[in-house]
Amino acid sequence: MKPNIDDQVNYEGLRYCPRCAAELRRADVREHERLVCPECDYVFYLTPAPVACVLIERDGAILLVRRRYPPQRGLWCLPAGFIEAGESPEESAVREVEEETGLEIRITGFLDSWATAEDPRTPIVSFAFTGDVVGGELEPGDDAEEAVFFPADALPHDIAFTTHRNAIAKFLRDR
Ligand SMILES: [Zn+2]
Repeated sequence: MKPNIDDQVNYEGLRYCPRCAAELRRADVREHERLVCPECDYVFYLTPAPVACVLIERDGAILLVRRRYPPQRGLWCLPAGFIEAGESPEESAVREVEEETGLEIRITGFLDSWATAEDPRTPIVSFAFTGDVVGGELEPGDDAEEAVFFPADALPHDIAFTTHRNAIAKFLRDR
């Protein structure tokens, strides 16, 4: 999946230069069509947003959260979120789990990574980790409406995002 120039406009809704507010134009930049500013030469590079998610198993059950906000609002998914500037993917994963579930974890392994176009806001690169609970109390927070350990053989059917379903399937296959 390689986003084209129309995806860039669609994803970001960009029309004007974020530096000088002139109207952006399409132009070839080293053989790629980009949005560029004719006034100040700003070039908009559409780069994927990095996401970290974590698969946490406890007593044969897997931790899922129910999404409070779009996209895929109301569906279940792994604890996950956008990586902030300056954070490592592992640090982001630990932080997101604490924010969404109240649980403190330690990262135990790297599961997989994917590039995906299934988030309507931006192209994504997703890093999936495994983790163990080391403290805290299970309580949903932030953008999670519920946080529940589901038995691995009785997971809900409405799990958001192909990447999360793939991560769960891989984890269950490999354990
Ligand atoms: Zn400009």
